[in-house]
Amino acid sequence: MQNYNALLARLAEITHLRRASAVLGWDQQTYMPGGGGMARAQQLTALRKLTHEMFTAPQTSELLAAAETECAGLEPESRERLTLRLVRRDYDKAVKLPLSLVAELAHATATGHQIWVRAREHSDFSAFAPTLEHLIDLMRQQAEAYGYEERPYDALLDKYEPGMKTSEVEAVFDALRPGLVDLVRRIGAAEQIDDSVLRRDFDKEGQQLFGEYVAARLGYDFHRGRLDETVHPFCTSFSRNDVRITTRYERNWLPAALMGTIHETGHALYEQGYDPADDDTPLQRAASSGVHESQSRLWENIVCRSRGFWKVYYPELQRHFPGVLDEVSLDSFYRALNRVTPSMIRVEADEVTYCLHIMLRFEMEKGLLDGSIAVSDVPAVWNEKMRDYLGIVPANDAEGCLQDVHWSGASFGYFPTYALGTILSAQLFDKARSEISGLDSAMAQGDFSGLLAWLREKIHRQGGRWLPAELVQRACGEPAQSSSYLNYLNSKFAEVYRLESASQAV
Ligand code: ZN
Repeated sequence: MQNYNALLARLAEITHLRRASAVLGWDQQTYMPGGGGMARAQQLTALRKLTHEMFTAPQTSELLAAAETECAGLEPESRERLTLRLVRRDYDKAVKLPLSLVAELAHATATGHQIWVRAREHSDFSAFAPTLEHLIDLMRQQAEAYGYEERPYDALLDKYEPGMKTSEVEAVFDALRPGLVDLVRRIGAAEQIDDSVLRRDFDKEGQQLFGEYVAARLGYDFHRGRLDETVHPFCTSFSRNDVRITTRYERNWLPAALMGTIHETGHALYEQGYDPADDDTPLQRAASSGVHESQSRLWENIVCRSRGFWKVYYPELQRHFPGVLDEVSLDSFYRALNRVTPSMIRVEADEVTYCLHIMLRFEMEKGLLDGSIAVSDVPAVWNEKMRDYLGIVPANDAEGCLQDVHWSGASFGYFPTYALGTILSAQLFDKARSEISGLDSAMAQGDFSGLLAWLREKIHRQGGRWLPAELVQRACGEPAQSSSYLNYLNSKFAEVYRLESASQAV
């Protein structure tokens, strides 16, 4: 195992450097004074260049090939073979992109971001159009460099959801869409919910204390993590024993920080739950962006937007904000938190309309990449799809096709993972309920340890051993499906909106 061990030692060093970059990145977004920006960018660029060079160097390739020969006789599912499969995928991807394209993409996204910010300020898509055209051209080159079996979009999707094909995402979305559109329509016809109780005056200290309290109850270990404040909430980790989350407080909108903190806690539980035996090895990572998102969405929505959760924790919430929610009943609070209303942007979307935002963007990205949608037509096509899916039309480009940062970062292929994770969260929860006896009654007492232990075993401790499709099959005993999610939404929102059971059968 000499070559295999030497390879792991080399990769561990690269991991240490990447984690050092992550510390710098965390600091940049939390406590760094504005003046530090220029130097920090240079430090991060230097580290990224170094790690890329170390990973793609001939020594890595030689050690990898030698280790593959050395381990060829082992079981395909042995730790060594699974590790080498993962490293081989990463390595082949890293060396397939010509350095000139890497540099061009870095430059185009850096300038593209500035241009997008200005275009959005002026709500003028035409100012961003030439940049988007250029970025799409670079992404096409990227897809060609990576290679694909069926469609160019496959190559971009594979960066975030290894092994998944565009046609498979389409199949999942096609199965889900009619049911979602129908549920949105039925909710629209029902009596609407007033969520003004969530817009009262919630002092920041109370929000922070309650957020930390809930995160700890869900199982987040503050001895191996911390919560800070940023403009854009995120989760980052420097090791299994140092996993940090951030949130953003809005004094007059309770869900912003609270549900944001819980979402990031879900991500953090995944990373705090990796197998200690995988420390500093390539296996200690998430299976995919979609699987990562399944963890955050499971805790945020299925657990913490449930009636059972608030039966236990609502009195505690009321205590954190004396006089603010005293006369508000549990039922009013719960229904306000689950209000469904079509919104212009995904990040503000409720559980029912959320995936429709992603389907829209997925279709735009595919069309732009294969040329069936012209860049100049983006605002019109966007607005048409918004009308079809959500029944609302943006008033301008800023609210519509310019709303989101992703395209300026040339990250086509990322968006579907938000929906895939959301859909998977319901499938995993169904399976957990069928395997853990007494899960419902434990959760009704505010005890989530059984659920967390199940996720630890089936998902967290598996790290990056399996492709997402393999992981789902192993955890759920079936391939990914969207019926769990649709059933979950239908039964939950029929109750929240008191929908007639007769219309459910239609
Ligand atoms: Zn997330």
